[in-house]
Amino acid sequence: MTSTSQVITCKAAVCWKVGEGVKIEEIQVDPPKATEVRLKMLCSSICHTDISSIQGTPMFNFYPLALGHEGVGVVESVGDEVKSLKGGDMVIPIFVGECKECENCISGKSNLCMTYPLSLTGLMPDNTSRMSCRGQRLYHPSSCATWSEYTVIDVNYLVKVDPSINPAHASFISCGFSTGYGAAWKEAKVESGSSVAVFGLGAVGLGAISAAKMLGATKIIGIDINDMKREKGEAFGMTHFINSSNSDKSPSELVKELSDGLGVDFSFECTGVGPLLTESLEATKVGSGKTITLGVGTEPFVSFGLFSILFGRTLKGSIFGGLKSISDLPIIADKCIKQEFPLQELFTHEVQLTDIEQAFELLKQPTCVKVVIKI
Ligand SMILES: [Zn+2]
Ligand SMILES: [Zn+2]
Repeated sequence: MTSTSQVITCKAAVCWKVGEGVKIEEIQVDPPKATEVRLKMLCSSICHTDISSIQGTPMFNFYPLALGHEGVGVVESVGDEVKSLKGGDMVIPIFVGECKECENCISGKSNLCMTYPLSLTGLMPDNTSRMSCRGQRLYHPSSCATWSEYTVIDVNYLVKVDPSINPAHASFISCGFSTGYGAAWKEAKVESGSSVAVFGLGAVGLGAISAAKMLGATKIIGIDINDMKREKGEAFGMTHFINSSNSDKSPSELVKELSDGLGVDFSFECTGVGPLLTESLEATKVGSGKTITLGVGTEPFVSFGLFSILFGRTLKGSIFGGLKSISDLPIIADKCIKQEFPLQELFTHEVQLTDIEQAFELLKQPTCVKVVIKI
């Protein structure tokens, strides 16, 4: 009997019910089916969407839920039809595939592949799960759960990376940082000499700053309510910092003060906090401003100022920053290996998987950007 045919019992973080937090449980991970791959996770990290899931986001509203979507792992075994990967390969799980054949893949207008889409079912593409706990089926966010010692994922939702990559940095580029980076690079197509405002300086916002700098933006304004983020923003290329909690003026007014009263060319909303959508629109230039919204909160509907958008501004939403997983993510992985951006600045805390409950406390600390989960 090969390892491919055996069920693995291992530890994973499970949320049984909205508002109950996560518990480390012993779970069963089934062998991979024909087009699937079972991974031994090396490390993972916490993304804001995971917290939204625990608090009950409509995006991933199914329980019991095995959590985590950022991470990097090593192939343990593969299904019969998997030819592109073998045991020992290092891979990053992704949540949108790229078939290179569907309308969106061919047109180049969107990264949202129709053949391997972002799954909102909490299940594998065949609508079943490879994970269970005490006989109960476990759901997972998007394509797999990464806060687990082992996980199974369809091969079309994996990107192979060079094993020389720093595992923590590989985990960061699997969602948050790349989402911001892609938003500036692929969605906004930030122009050289332009001005940019970034709302929220977590991993997503810092990724947007990093790409804006790479593309030659000359004014990059970061907005946050935590002063500790100034240093982080500057490390990635931010030129001006606004702590919006220190002023009676709105964040958009403060951005305009730093941009000749006109506002910026591009803004990025990375928080998912409803009222900031209008602020991020208002912070851009009348007639030409472009806002990319990336944050996921717990509110399914948010309102925004009609006049903010009527005056010639554009609002675009984005999943994974418009990055095509097969075409674009390896470019970011390569930059990561060459240390073209200071990803070590994101790495502020580390916990073992079994101590994951501590991670949620660490996230409340002002110094925290990313908590790495060692598996
Ligand atoms: Zn994420
Ligand atoms: Zn496609």
